Amino acid sequence: MPEGHVIHGIAAALTGLLRGQVVHASSPQGRFSSGAALLDGCTFTGAIAHGKHLFASFDPGAQAPHILHVHLGLYGVWSFALAAEHPLAPHRNPLLTAAGEGKQPQVIGDAARFAVPAPRGAVRLRLVGKQAAADLNGPSRCEVLTAAEVDVLRARLGPDPLLGDSDPDAFIQAVRSSRRAIGELLMDQSVISGVGNIYRAELLFRHRIHPATPGQRVSVRKLQQLWSDAVVLLADGKRLGVIVTTDEGHLNEPPTGWTKLAERAPNEEADLRWYAYRRSGRPCHRCGNLIATSILASRTVFWCSRCQRAPSH
Ligand SMILES: [Zn+2]
Repeated sequence: MPEGHVIHGIAAALTGLLRGQVVHASSPQGRFSSGAALLDGCTFTGAIAHGKHLFASFDPGAQAPHILHVHLGLYGVWSFALAAEHPLAPHRNPLLTAAGEGKQPQVIGDAARFAVPAPRGAVRLRLVGKQAAADLNGPSRCEVLTAAEVDVLRARLGPDPLLGDSDPDAFIQAVRSSRRAIGELLMDQSVISGVGNIYRAELLFRHRIHPATPGQRVSVRKLQQLWSDAVVLLADGKRLGVIVTTDEGHLNEPPTGWTKLAERAPNEEADLRWYAYRRSGRPCHRCGNLIATSILASRTVFWCSRCQRAPSH
């Protein structure tokens, strides 16, 4: 499942491709025909992300805006097509490639001859602007909401390190008031939004916190540092389209194709990109001890038992 940095990249991509344009919306697959009919002919005014949720605004003119809410879940994916001259064409701007986690957008003809490609697979929603199109396949949520409904939904989400107006104190308070393990709390989207399994393992390693440590036993100072680090790491992930948390190579552009390769988990790549994630049984980069695993919040968590001491009882 993509972590928050990808959804922020997609929001920026949709905004860059379609903002200010009257868009044609359709559901080639048919499962979102009535929702698409509401959006069709509206002016797209921009998209934002909050954690793993995407909110895109459509202005129908006379009535209140329609807000498209999308959660990709495990299988959802956006894909983009655009004319060669578009400012976001991949040879000019890496934004769409990053938002596609390394997958290149389709470049189709010049501005005058931009033609929408045939749908690939079950396209739930297709948005077409002047020189660009975006297709959504396989989301777990795709619905049209009112602004009030969006407020209700967002009120249940924890602060997002990539949103400038997020309140880190809300995160710190939620962790400090809980006996649940920090490794569980970091995966709880009502505690912090946008962190998934990779960022969880890496943030805990970088701050030397054992995943089983009860939230109330993690110091405020550590949580402040962890939050500030999350802000930097997620912003890097959004820019690069891949998660790289090792300090060496952190500032370098990763080789293209890393993302999909990492899903198949060749050790060599995990060794370069991460300290703990997908490195079970491999030596810790810091101390040489072998990386351990267990299950927390239904997903495998990875850590170093020497660098990240188990909480005492
Ligand atoms: Zn270690």
